Amino acid sequence: MSRRRFSSAERDALCIACGALCCKDFAIEISAPSCHKDAERIRWYLSHERTRVFIRDDHWYLLVANRCRHLGQDNRCTAHESRPDVCRRHSRKECERGGRVFYDHLFNAPQEFDAYYGRRDMIHR
Ligand code: SF4
Ligand code: SF4
Repeated sequence: MSRRRFSSAERDALCIACGALCCKDFAIEISAPSCHKDAERIRWYLSHERTRVFIRDDHWYLLVANRCRHLGQDNRCTAHESRPDVCRRHSRKECERGGRVFYDHLFNAPQEFDAYYGRRDMIHR
């Protein structure tokens, strides 16, 4: 059975209804911790408000929850014509609508990272 494709207007409506989740944070890949110094760096990231760290497919990412300055109050992009390439390339596979989980592990605070990594860190220290 083939699936019907959403029209561009329908996709816009879905994005507005979801609250434009993917315009309210961004993630950058970081190196996986392999020593105590790396682990301290991640603890430092997680000590800040609105930051998280996640692992997906063995890659580590820093997630910064910060609304894009181009996002209008109506959850529409006000810079659609000049939006950054990363927005143009946004894949539907990355869509977070409906609370879709996009990570294998998520750390919200240093304590959660310690619970995952701490024991190994003590051994290698
Ligand atoms: S999370 Fe999905 S539905 Fe929501 S704005 Fe992004 S692409 Fe659109
Ligand atoms: S530039 Fe537009 S599409 Fe890109 S994150 Fe900002 S509001 Fe969203």
